[in-house]
Amino acid sequence: MSRYFLLSRSVLSRLALLAWLLTSFLMSFWAAPLAMAQTAPTQSPAPPPAPTQPVPTQPAAPATGAKGLTALARFEPRGSAIRDAGDGIALDLAISQPVPWRVRVLDDPARLVLDFREVDFGDIENAALSTSSHVRDLRAGPLRPGWSRLVLELDGPYGVKTAEMRTDPEGGRAEVRLVLRPESAAAFAGAAAVPDPPGWTLPRPADVGYAKRRQTGDRKVMVVIDPGHGGIDPGAVHGKLHEADIVLAVARKLREALLRAGGFDVVMTRDSDVFVPLETRVSVAREAGADLFLALHADSIAEGVASGATIYTLAKKATDEASAKLAARHDRDDLLSGVDLSGTDDIVAGVLMDLARDETMPRSEALAAALVTAIKGEDLRMHVRPHQEADFSVLKSPDIPSALLELGFLSSATDRKQLVDPAWQDRMVAAIVAGIRAWVKTDAAQAALLRQ
Ligand SMILES: [Zn+2]
Repeated sequence: MSRYFLLSRSVLSRLALLAWLLTSFLMSFWAAPLAMAQTAPTQSPAPPPAPTQPVPTQPAAPATGAKGLTALARFEPRGSAIRDAGDGIALDLAISQPVPWRVRVLDDPARLVLDFREVDFGDIENAALSTSSHVRDLRAGPLRPGWSRLVLELDGPYGVKTAEMRTDPEGGRAEVRLVLRPESAAAFAGAAAVPDPPGWTLPRPADVGYAKRRQTGDRKVMVVIDPGHGGIDPGAVHGKLHEADIVLAVARKLREALLRAGGFDVVMTRDSDVFVPLETRVSVAREAGADLFLALHADSIAEGVASGATIYTLAKKATDEASAKLAARHDRDDLLSGVDLSGTDDIVAGVLMDLARDETMPRSEALAAALVTAIKGEDLRMHVRPHQEADFSVLKSPDIPSALLELGFLSSATDRKQLVDPAWQDRMVAAIVAGIRAWVKTDAAQAALLRQ
Protein backbone atom coordinates (compact mmCIF):
# COMPACT_ATOMS: atom_id res chain seq x y z
CA MET A 1 0.00 0.00 0.00
CA SER A 2 2.70 2.47 1.06
CA ARG A 3 4.95 1.37 -1.78
CA TYR A 4 2.17 1.89 -4.25
CA PHE A 5 1.61 5.28 -2.73
CA LEU A 6 5.29 6.21 -3.13
CA LEU A 7 5.34 4.93 -6.67
CA SER A 8 2.27 6.84 -7.73
CA ARG A 9 3.64 9.93 -6.01
CA SER A 10 6.82 9.81 -8.03
CA VAL A 11 4.82 9.23 -11.22
CA LEU A 12 2.56 12.11 -10.30
CA SER A 13 5.42 14.50 -9.67
CA ARG A 14 6.93 13.57 -13.04
CA LEU A 15 3.57 14.14 -14.70
CA ALA A 16 3.28 17.46 -12.94
CA LEU A 17 6.72 18.50 -14.17
CA LEU A 18 5.83 17.40 -17.68
CA ALA A 19 2.57 19.32 -17.54
CA TRP A 20 4.38 22.39 -16.31
CA LEU A 21 6.96 22.15 -19.08
CA LEU A 22 4.24 21.68 -21.66
CA THR A 23 2.23 24.65 -20.45
CA SER A 24 5.37 26.80 -20.26
CA PHE A 25 6.19 25.79 -23.81
CA LEU A 26 2.69 26.58 -25.03
CA MET A 27 2.78 29.82 -23.06
CA SER A 28 5.44 31.16 -25.36
CA PHE A 29 2.94 30.85 -28.24
CA TRP A 30 0.06 32.14 -26.24
CA ALA A 31 1.77 35.21 -24.85
CA ALA A 32 3.29 36.18 -28.16
CA PRO A 33 0.16 37.43 -29.94
CA LEU A 34 -0.92 39.47 -26.96
CA ALA A 35 2.50 41.04 -26.59
CA MET A 36 2.42 41.77 -30.28
CA ALA A 37 -0.92 43.47 -29.93
CA GLN A 38 0.63 45.77 -27.37
CA THR A 39 3.81 46.67 -29.16
CA ALA A 40 2.84 46.53 -32.82
CA PRO A 41 -0.53 48.25 -33.16
CA THR A 42 -1.18 47.17 -36.74
CA GLN A 43 -0.68 43.48 -35.97
CA SER A 44 -3.75 41.45 -35.24
CA PRO A 45 -3.57 38.78 -32.56
CA ALA A 46 -2.42 35.55 -34.15
CA PRO A 47 -4.29 32.30 -33.50
CA PRO A 48 -3.35 30.68 -30.20
CA PRO A 49 -2.30 27.04 -29.84
CA ALA A 50 -4.69 24.16 -30.32
CA PRO A 51 -7.83 24.62 -28.23
CA THR A 52 -7.56 21.24 -26.58
CA GLN A 53 -4.48 22.32 -24.63
CA PRO A 54 -5.22 24.16 -21.42
CA VAL A 55 -2.99 27.21 -21.58
CA PRO A 56 -2.48 29.49 -18.60
CA THR A 57 -2.19 33.16 -19.43
CA GLN A 58 0.38 33.89 -16.73
CA PRO A 59 3.64 32.10 -16.03
CA ALA A 60 2.67 31.99 -12.36
CA ALA A 61 -0.56 30.17 -13.14
CA PRO A 62 0.52 26.48 -13.41
CA ALA A 63 0.60 25.98 -9.65
CA THR A 64 -3.06 26.88 -9.26
CA GLY A 65 -3.85 26.31 -12.93
CA ALA A 66 -4.39 22.56 -12.70
CA LYS A 67 -7.28 23.18 -10.35
CA GLY A 68 -8.34 26.55 -11.67
CA LEU A 69 -8.86 25.37 -15.23
CA THR A 70 -11.74 23.10 -14.38
CA ALA A 71 -13.34 25.54 -11.97
CA LEU A 72 -15.88 27.94 -13.33
CA ALA A 73 -14.85 31.58 -13.20
CA ARG A 74 -17.52 34.21 -12.89
CA PHE A 75 -17.88 37.46 -14.74
CA GLU A 76 -18.29 40.33 -12.26
CA PRO A 77 -20.37 43.26 -13.50
CA ARG A 78 -19.06 45.43 -10.66
CA GLY A 79 -15.68 46.66 -11.74
CA SER A 80 -16.46 46.01 -15.39
CA ALA A 81 -17.15 48.66 -18.02
CA ILE A 82 -17.09 49.20 -21.74
CA ARG A 83 -16.80 52.86 -22.68
CA ASP A 84 -15.66 55.28 -25.32
CA ALA A 85 -12.02 56.28 -25.10
CA GLY A 86 -11.54 59.14 -27.53
CA ASP A 87 -12.56 57.74 -30.89
CA GLY A 88 -11.75 54.25 -29.63
CA ILE A 89 -13.21 51.81 -27.10
CA ALA A 90 -11.89 50.72 -23.71
CA LEU A 91 -12.96 47.44 -22.12
CA ASP A 92 -12.45 46.49 -18.49
CA LEU A 93 -13.83 43.08 -17.57
CA ALA A 94 -13.55 41.71 -14.04
CA ILE A 95 -13.46 37.92 -13.65
CA SER A 96 -13.40 35.99 -10.38
CA GLN A 97 -10.12 34.25 -11.29
CA PRO A 98 -7.62 34.16 -14.17
CA VAL A 99 -8.46 31.82 -17.06
CA PRO A 100 -7.00 31.22 -20.51
CA TRP A 101 -8.50 33.54 -23.07
CA ARG A 102 -8.07 34.84 -26.59
CA VAL A 103 -9.20 37.79 -28.61
CA ARG A 104 -9.91 38.30 -32.27
CA VAL A 105 -12.01 40.38 -34.65
CA LEU A 106 -14.48 39.31 -37.31
CA ASP A 107 -15.90 41.21 -40.29
CA ASP A 108 -19.39 41.68 -41.78
CA PRO A 109 -20.54 42.96 -39.36
CA ALA A 110 -17.43 44.19 -37.52
CA ARG A 111 -17.19 42.29 -34.24
CA LEU A 112 -14.79 41.88 -31.35
CA VAL A 113 -14.74 38.29 -30.11
CA LEU A 114 -13.37 37.24 -26.72
CA ASP A 115 -13.17 33.55 -25.86
CA PHE A 116 -12.63 32.51 -22.25
CA ARG A 117 -12.10 29.16 -20.68
CA GLU A 118 -15.05 28.41 -18.39
CA VAL A 119 -16.41 31.85 -17.61
CA ASP A 120 -20.02 32.15 -16.54
CA PHE A 121 -21.22 35.48 -17.93
CA GLY A 122 -24.57 35.33 -16.14
CA ASP A 123 -26.96 38.05 -17.20
CA ILE A 124 -24.33 40.20 -18.90
CA GLU A 125 -26.71 41.47 -21.60
CA ASN A 126 -28.79 43.19 -18.93
CA ALA A 127 -25.86 44.35 -16.80
CA ALA A 128 -25.83 47.80 -18.49
CA LEU A 129 -22.16 47.12 -19.06
CA SER A 130 -21.57 49.25 -22.12
CA THR A 131 -21.88 52.99 -22.38
CA SER A 132 -19.85 53.05 -25.59
CA SER A 133 -21.46 54.68 -28.61
CA HIS A 134 -19.35 52.38 -30.81
CA VAL A 135 -20.82 49.13 -29.46
CA ARG A 136 -24.07 48.25 -31.20
CA ASP A 137 -24.82 44.97 -29.53
CA LEU A 138 -23.33 42.63 -26.98
CA ARG A 139 -23.85 38.94 -26.36
CA ALA A 140 -22.23 36.25 -24.25
CA GLY A 141 -22.70 32.58 -23.46
CA PRO A 142 -21.28 29.08 -23.87
CA LEU A 143 -19.53 28.48 -27.19
CA ARG A 144 -18.68 24.82 -26.80
CA PRO A 145 -17.97 22.63 -23.77
CA GLY A 146 -15.37 24.39 -21.62
CA TRP A 147 -15.34 27.69 -23.49
CA SER A 148 -17.46 30.81 -23.28
CA ARG A 149 -17.64 33.67 -25.75
CA LEU A 150 -18.30 37.38 -25.50
CA VAL A 151 -19.13 39.17 -28.75
CA LEU A 152 -19.39 42.91 -29.29
CA GLU A 153 -20.84 44.22 -32.51
CA LEU A 154 -18.92 47.37 -33.45
CA ASP A 155 -19.94 50.36 -35.54
CA GLY A 156 -16.89 50.09 -37.77
CA PRO A 157 -13.35 48.69 -38.12
CA TYR A 158 -11.23 48.80 -34.95
CA GLY A 159 -7.87 47.27 -34.16
CA VAL A 160 -6.87 45.73 -30.83
CA LYS A 161 -4.14 48.07 -29.60
CA THR A 162 -3.58 46.60 -26.17
CA ALA A 163 -4.87 43.42 -24.60
CA GLU A 164 -3.88 42.13 -21.20
CA MET A 165 -5.12 40.13 -18.24
CA ARG A 166 -4.00 41.36 -14.84
CA THR A 167 -4.30 39.24 -11.74
CA ASP A 168 -4.82 40.69 -8.31
CA PRO A 169 -2.41 38.64 -6.13
CA GLU A 170 -4.45 39.33 -2.98
CA GLY A 171 -8.03 38.57 -3.99
CA GLY A 172 -7.15 36.27 -6.88
CA ARG A 173 -9.43 38.15 -9.24
CA ALA A 174 -8.46 38.89 -12.81
CA GLU A 175 -9.08 41.89 -14.96
CA VAL A 176 -9.08 41.87 -18.73
CA ARG A 177 -8.23 45.21 -20.29
CA LEU A 178 -8.49 46.00 -23.95
CA VAL A 179 -8.14 49.18 -25.91
CA LEU A 180 -9.48 49.35 -29.45
CA ARG A 181 -8.59 52.11 -31.89
CA PRO A 182 -10.22 52.86 -35.26
CA GLU A 183 -8.29 51.42 -38.15
CA SER A 184 -8.64 51.15 -41.92
CA ALA A 185 -11.15 48.75 -43.40
CA ALA A 186 -8.33 46.95 -45.21
CA ALA A 187 -6.28 46.38 -42.05
CA PHE A 188 -9.40 45.24 -40.22
CA ALA A 189 -10.35 42.82 -43.00
CA GLY A 190 -6.83 41.38 -42.82
CA ALA A 191 -7.10 40.81 -39.08
CA ALA A 192 -10.59 39.35 -39.41
CA ALA A 193 -9.39 36.90 -42.06
CA VAL A 194 -6.91 35.21 -39.70
CA PRO A 195 -8.41 31.73 -39.33
CA ASP A 196 -9.28 30.17 -36.00
CA PRO A 197 -7.33 27.06 -35.03
CA PRO A 198 -8.99 23.99 -36.55
CA GLY A 199 -12.03 22.91 -34.59
CA TRP A 200 -12.09 26.06 -32.45
CA THR A 201 -15.78 26.73 -33.04
CA LEU A 202 -16.43 22.99 -33.39
CA PRO A 203 -17.93 22.54 -36.87
CA ARG A 204 -16.38 19.84 -38.97
CA PRO A 205 -17.14 20.12 -42.66
CA ALA A 206 -19.39 17.36 -43.87
CA ASP A 207 -18.42 14.87 -46.52
CA VAL A 208 -19.54 16.77 -49.57
CA GLY A 209 -19.63 13.86 -51.97
CA TYR A 210 -22.14 11.99 -49.86
CA ALA A 211 -25.41 11.08 -51.51
CA LYS A 212 -28.09 9.08 -49.78
CA ARG A 213 -30.49 6.64 -51.34
CA ARG A 214 -34.03 7.86 -51.01
CA GLN A 215 -36.06 6.10 -48.33
CA THR A 216 -38.46 3.49 -49.67
CA GLY A 217 -39.88 2.15 -46.43
CA ASP A 218 -37.59 -0.91 -46.34
CA ARG A 219 -35.31 0.38 -43.59
CA LYS A 220 -35.38 2.70 -40.58
CA VAL A 221 -35.95 6.35 -41.39
CA MET A 222 -33.26 8.72 -40.10
CA VAL A 223 -34.84 11.84 -38.62
CA VAL A 224 -32.56 14.74 -37.70
CA ILE A 225 -34.19 17.07 -35.18
CA ASP A 226 -32.71 20.55 -35.00
CA PRO A 227 -33.64 22.46 -31.83
CA GLY A 228 -32.93 26.08 -32.80
CA HIS A 229 -30.45 28.40 -31.08
CA GLY A 230 -28.62 27.44 -27.83
CA GLY A 231 -25.63 28.55 -25.78
CA ILE A 232 -24.54 32.07 -26.62
CA ASP A 233 -27.66 32.43 -28.75
CA PRO A 234 -30.82 32.08 -26.58
CA GLY A 235 -33.17 32.85 -29.49
CA ALA A 236 -36.33 34.74 -28.61
CA VAL A 237 -36.45 35.81 -24.96
CA HIS A 238 -39.50 36.70 -22.88
CA GLY A 239 -38.76 37.29 -19.21
CA LYS A 240 -37.13 34.07 -18.04
CA LEU A 241 -38.35 32.08 -21.05
CA HIS A 242 -35.73 31.31 -23.66
CA GLU A 243 -36.70 29.92 -27.05
CA ALA A 244 -33.56 27.73 -26.97
CA ASP A 245 -34.74 25.92 -23.80
CA ILE A 246 -38.32 25.43 -24.98
CA VAL A 247 -37.39 23.94 -28.34
CA LEU A 248 -34.80 21.65 -26.73
CA ALA A 249 -37.42 20.30 -24.33
CA VAL A 250 -39.83 19.60 -27.20
CA ALA A 251 -37.04 18.11 -29.32
CA ARG A 252 -36.18 15.62 -26.57
CA LYS A 253 -39.81 14.61 -26.25
CA LEU A 254 -40.04 14.20 -30.01
CA ARG A 255 -36.95 11.99 -30.06
CA GLU A 256 -38.47 9.78 -27.35
CA ALA A 257 -41.78 9.54 -29.18
CA LEU A 258 -40.19 8.66 -32.54
CA LEU A 259 -38.01 5.96 -30.99
CA ARG A 260 -41.02 4.56 -29.16
CA ALA A 261 -43.07 4.56 -32.38
CA GLY A 262 -40.42 2.34 -34.02
CA GLY A 263 -39.04 2.51 -37.55
CA PHE A 264 -36.98 5.62 -36.81
CA ASP A 265 -33.43 6.52 -35.93
CA VAL A 266 -33.01 9.97 -34.45
CA VAL A 267 -30.08 12.35 -34.30
CA MET A 268 -30.27 15.79 -32.68
CA THR A 269 -28.09 18.70 -33.77
CA ARG A 270 -27.73 19.60 -30.10
CA ASP A 271 -28.79 17.92 -26.85
CA SER A 272 -27.70 20.59 -24.38
CA ASP A 273 -27.58 24.35 -24.05
CA VAL A 274 -24.70 24.75 -26.45
CA PHE A 275 -24.18 26.95 -29.46
CA VAL A 276 -24.30 25.16 -32.82
CA PRO A 277 -23.59 27.21 -35.95
CA LEU A 278 -26.21 26.99 -38.72
CA GLU A 279 -23.57 25.46 -40.95
CA THR A 280 -22.94 22.66 -38.49
CA ARG A 281 -26.66 21.89 -38.20
CA VAL A 282 -26.71 21.12 -41.91
CA SER A 283 -23.44 19.17 -41.64
CA VAL A 284 -24.86 17.03 -38.85
CA ALA A 285 -27.86 16.14 -41.00
CA ARG A 286 -25.62 15.16 -43.92
CA GLU A 287 -23.28 13.10 -41.78
CA ALA A 288 -26.18 11.30 -40.14
CA GLY A 289 -27.57 10.47 -43.59
CA ALA A 290 -30.85 12.19 -42.76
CA ASP A 291 -34.01 11.14 -44.59
CA LEU A 292 -35.76 14.11 -43.06
CA PHE A 293 -34.63 17.30 -41.30
CA LEU A 294 -36.95 19.11 -38.90
CA ALA A 295 -35.92 22.36 -37.22
CA LEU A 296 -37.90 23.50 -34.16
CA HIS A 297 -38.34 27.15 -33.19
CA ALA A 298 -40.56 29.45 -31.14
CA ASP A 299 -39.61 32.93 -32.25
CA SER A 300 -40.86 36.37 -31.42
CA ILE A 301 -42.35 38.54 -34.09
CA ALA A 302 -42.39 42.28 -33.56
CA GLU A 303 -44.69 43.06 -36.44
CA GLY A 304 -48.40 42.27 -36.11
CA VAL A 305 -49.79 39.65 -33.79
CA ALA A 306 -48.52 36.34 -35.14
CA SER A 307 -49.68 33.28 -33.25
CA GLY A 308 -50.18 29.58 -33.80
CA ALA A 309 -47.85 26.92 -35.19
CA THR A 310 -46.35 27.57 -38.62
CA ILE A 311 -44.40 25.28 -40.95
CA TYR A 312 -41.75 26.78 -43.18
CA THR A 313 -40.10 25.28 -46.21
CA LEU A 314 -37.37 26.85 -48.30
CA ALA A 315 -38.54 29.68 -50.50
CA LYS A 316 -38.46 29.12 -54.25
CA LYS A 317 -38.38 32.84 -54.82
CA ALA A 318 -38.75 36.09 -52.89
CA THR A 319 -40.95 35.77 -49.81
CA ASP A 320 -43.11 38.22 -47.93
CA GLU A 321 -41.45 40.71 -45.64
CA ALA A 322 -42.24 39.03 -42.31
CA SER A 323 -40.82 35.66 -43.41
CA ALA A 324 -37.76 37.33 -44.87
CA LYS A 325 -37.16 39.18 -41.60
CA LEU A 326 -37.52 35.99 -39.58
CA ALA A 327 -34.99 34.19 -41.75
CA ALA A 328 -32.62 37.14 -41.72
CA ARG A 329 -32.80 37.28 -37.92
CA HIS A 330 -31.77 33.65 -37.59
CA ASP A 331 -28.77 34.28 -39.80
CA ARG A 332 -27.98 37.43 -37.83
CA ASP A 333 -28.15 35.50 -34.54
CA ASP A 334 -25.55 33.18 -35.92
CA LEU A 335 -23.36 36.04 -37.09
CA LEU A 336 -23.62 37.74 -33.73
CA SER A 337 -22.31 34.61 -32.10
CA GLY A 338 -19.07 35.27 -33.89
CA VAL A 339 -18.84 32.20 -36.05
CA ASP A 340 -17.67 32.63 -39.60
CA LEU A 341 -20.24 31.39 -42.08
CA SER A 342 -18.09 31.88 -45.15
CA GLY A 343 -17.78 28.12 -45.62
CA THR A 344 -21.53 27.63 -45.93
CA ASP A 345 -21.56 27.30 -49.67
CA ASP A 346 -18.92 24.58 -49.53
CA ILE A 347 -21.39 22.25 -47.85
CA VAL A 348 -23.51 22.09 -50.92
CA ALA A 349 -20.79 22.61 -53.48
CA GLY A 350 -20.20 19.68 -55.74
CA VAL A 351 -23.67 18.31 -55.30
CA LEU A 352 -25.81 18.90 -58.34
CA MET A 353 -27.71 21.37 -56.32
CA ASP A 354 -30.55 22.55 -58.50
CA LEU A 355 -31.13 19.08 -59.85
CA ALA A 356 -31.35 17.64 -56.37
CA ARG A 357 -33.60 20.46 -55.19
CA ASP A 358 -36.03 19.88 -58.05
CA GLU A 359 -36.67 16.47 -56.55
CA THR A 360 -36.35 17.47 -52.90
CA MET A 361 -38.53 20.57 -52.81
CA PRO A 362 -41.81 18.81 -53.57
CA ARG A 363 -40.89 16.24 -50.93
CA SER A 364 -40.27 19.01 -48.39
CA GLU A 365 -43.58 20.58 -49.32
CA ALA A 366 -45.35 17.23 -48.92
CA LEU A 367 -43.73 16.93 -45.48
CA ALA A 368 -45.03 20.38 -44.54
CA ALA A 369 -48.51 19.49 -45.77
CA ALA A 370 -48.50 16.23 -43.76
CA LEU A 371 -47.44 18.12 -40.64
CA VAL A 372 -50.17 20.75 -41.12
CA THR A 373 -52.81 18.02 -41.48
CA ALA A 374 -51.58 16.18 -38.40
CA ILE A 375 -51.30 19.30 -36.21
CA LYS A 376 -54.78 20.43 -37.22
CA GLY A 377 -56.00 16.86 -36.69
CA GLU A 378 -54.77 17.07 -33.11
CA ASP A 379 -56.87 20.22 -32.80
CA LEU A 380 -53.85 22.40 -32.12
CA ARG A 381 -54.03 26.00 -33.21
CA MET A 382 -52.14 26.96 -36.32
CA HIS A 383 -51.24 30.30 -37.87
CA VAL A 384 -53.81 31.64 -40.38
CA ARG A 385 -51.29 30.72 -43.07
CA PRO A 386 -50.00 27.43 -41.66
CA HIS A 387 -47.49 26.69 -44.42
CA GLN A 388 -45.12 29.46 -45.44
CA GLU A 389 -41.86 29.83 -47.25
CA ALA A 390 -38.67 31.57 -46.14
CA ASP A 391 -35.00 31.64 -46.93
CA PHE A 392 -33.79 29.77 -43.82
CA SER A 393 -30.16 28.65 -44.04
CA VAL A 394 -30.84 25.35 -42.27
CA LEU A 395 -33.33 24.33 -44.96
CA LYS A 396 -30.80 24.52 -47.77
CA SER A 397 -29.68 20.89 -47.96
CA PRO A 398 -30.32 20.14 -51.61
CA ASP A 399 -31.10 16.46 -51.11
CA ILE A 400 -32.70 16.20 -47.66
CA PRO A 401 -36.42 16.99 -47.30
CA SER A 402 -36.38 19.79 -44.71
CA ALA A 403 -38.91 21.84 -42.80
CA LEU A 404 -38.85 24.35 -39.97
CA LEU A 405 -41.65 24.29 -37.44
CA GLU A 406 -42.39 27.40 -35.45
CA LEU A 407 -44.20 25.69 -32.57
CA GLY A 408 -45.73 29.03 -31.67
CA PHE A 409 -44.54 32.56 -31.09
CA LEU A 410 -42.99 33.63 -27.81
CA SER A 411 -44.31 37.12 -28.54
CA SER A 412 -47.92 35.84 -28.25
CA ALA A 413 -49.36 35.47 -24.74
CA THR A 414 -51.59 32.55 -25.78
CA ASP A 415 -48.73 30.70 -27.46
CA ARG A 416 -46.40 31.35 -24.55
CA LYS A 417 -48.72 29.63 -22.11
CA GLN A 418 -48.96 26.58 -24.38
CA LEU A 419 -45.27 26.37 -25.26
CA VAL A 420 -44.28 25.72 -21.64
CA ASP A 421 -47.24 23.44 -20.85
CA PRO A 422 -46.01 19.80 -20.78
CA ALA A 423 -49.47 18.49 -21.77
CA TRP A 424 -49.57 20.79 -24.79
CA GLN A 425 -46.02 19.78 -25.70
CA ASP A 426 -47.06 16.10 -25.59
CA ARG A 427 -49.98 16.73 -27.94
CA MET A 428 -47.77 18.68 -30.33
CA VAL A 429 -45.16 15.91 -30.28
CA ALA A 430 -47.84 13.28 -30.97
CA ALA A 431 -49.05 15.36 -33.92
CA ILE A 432 -45.54 15.74 -35.34
CA VAL A 433 -44.96 11.97 -35.08
CA ALA A 434 -48.28 11.32 -36.85
CA GLY A 435 -47.36 13.82 -39.56
CA ILE A 436 -43.92 12.32 -40.10
CA ARG A 437 -45.35 8.76 -40.26
CA ALA A 438 -47.95 9.82 -42.82
CA TRP A 439 -45.29 11.53 -44.92
CA VAL A 440 -42.88 8.58 -44.75
CA LYS A 441 -45.60 6.27 -46.08
CA THR A 442 -46.62 8.43 -49.07
CA ASP A 443 -43.02 9.38 -49.79
CA ALA A 444 -41.95 5.73 -49.91
CA ALA A 445 -44.88 4.86 -52.17
CA GLN A 446 -43.91 7.63 -54.55
CA ALA A 447 -40.29 6.45 -54.60
CA ALA A 448 -41.49 2.96 -55.51
CA LEU A 449 -43.56 4.42 -58.39
CA LEU A 450 -40.55 6.38 -59.65
CA ARG A 451 -38.42 3.24 -59.72
CA GLN A 452 -40.82 1.33 -61.95
ZN1 LIG B 1 -35.77 30.70 -33.62
